[in-house]
Amino acid sequence: MNLRPFLFAALCAVFSTCSFAAGKVVLKAAKLIDGRGGAPLAPAMVAVEGDRIVGVGSQLPVPEGAKVIDLGDATLLPGLIDLHTHLCGKYGVHWEDELVKTTPAFSALWGAHNARITLDAGFTTVRDMGTAWPYVDVELRDAIEAGAVPGPRMMVAGSYVSSTGGAGDAQQFSPYVLVPSVDNLADSPQEVVKQVRKNFKHRADFIKLLATGAVLSKGQAPAAQQFSDEEILAAVTEANRWGRQVAVHAHGLGGIKTSIRAGVRTIDHGSYLDDEAIRMLQTSNRKTFYVPTLYTSTVIARQGREANIPESEIMRSKAISAIKDEGFRRAVAAGLPIGFATDSAVIPHGENAHEFLERARLGEKPMDAIVSATSLNAEIMGWGDRVGAIAPGKFADLIAVAADPLADIKALLDVGFVMKGGRVWKDRLSRRAPE
Ligand SMILES: [Zn+2]
Repeated sequence: MNLRPFLFAALCAVFSTCSFAAGKVVLKAAKLIDGRGGAPLAPAMVAVEGDRIVGVGSQLPVPEGAKVIDLGDATLLPGLIDLHTHLCGKYGVHWEDELVKTTPAFSALWGAHNARITLDAGFTTVRDMGTAWPYVDVELRDAIEAGAVPGPRMMVAGSYVSSTGGAGDAQQFSPYVLVPSVDNLADSPQEVVKQVRKNFKHRADFIKLLATGAVLSKGQAPAAQQFSDEEILAAVTEANRWGRQVAVHAHGLGGIKTSIRAGVRTIDHGSYLDDEAIRMLQTSNRKTFYVPTLYTSTVIARQGREANIPESEIMRSKAISAIKDEGFRRAVAAGLPIGFATDSAVIPHGENAHEFLERARLGEKPMDAIVSATSLNAEIMGWGDRVGAIAPGKFADLIAVAADPLADIKALLDVGFVMKGGRVWKDRLSRRAPE
């Protein structure tokens, strides 16, 4: 029999500093957007116990001993989610330079730095698409979970899988320059299966496959498909056998359509998206999602040279920028659910919310953009049971902004309050009751 609850109750009767209410917090704000697209709640209260939300309403009883955080005129939202980050990448360092001039420790330390910056920007969950040095993301995820390093919850790709000469080939240098620690190439369905299994053995959460050429790599153009139909299907079949998902980096239509047919979870970038691809995504019945990254083009055009991106790659980015915009416009017009992502470190870490501005520029309504970065992204990750909405039972991952993001989405650029798992990481907004 467990006597601890009784002992605890007895001690509470004796000491006035009873900690029965330990970990109980009540948040108050003028307004709340719950992440699921319904009308905002105003005024709003959220009850938190430990790391979870236990109540949401306009008027909630404040339990005795609970700490009240009064956010005044602010608007509460669920912690934001970015589906495409590279937290271990340092902005301004090309991944090829990282491999020949740094060690995995460089990626780990900057990863910890970037994780904190991303959390401060209001992003409490990320799906991380891999590191130049494989598996550093696995260690960062675990260090954050263990409380050693502040950062968002991470779902990690480990070692992204590329074809030889493909967008993720770490050996695309002189044949005399070897980067032997990076073994992420696959050139047949069998080799793809091997890479998938190896990733899961080394504790990756999902598979990232480079289905087409890339903007920031040598070799083939972004439009070119770099894995065969059979290879992409092999990755999905094997990952699904493990109960995990595949995300593909895909710019060109061949890679996009083959990947939708193979049943991948996300088409990341999706630059050349056309009406047929949109129809295929719609008929996939929420199995496969389009996850664009629009702000990258703005950043590369504006400051690519200072960020040490080669001229040829800046030109590539400029060449597909308008095509990306057009694909996004089509997707909005078709009412397609669109995942939210940024590809940081291609953009500076912490500027993730600038993606909202790009999406607004191309016609997306603020509420749709917010749903995308919260409940929809959670659904895409398969984490709808724990994050992405302000609702009882979910992790207490909440942010607040001073201005109303439904009136102007720019409000999300200035996140003044961040709580993750019931712990406050940032607070420039509250008028705290005396403790
Ligand atoms: Zn990326």
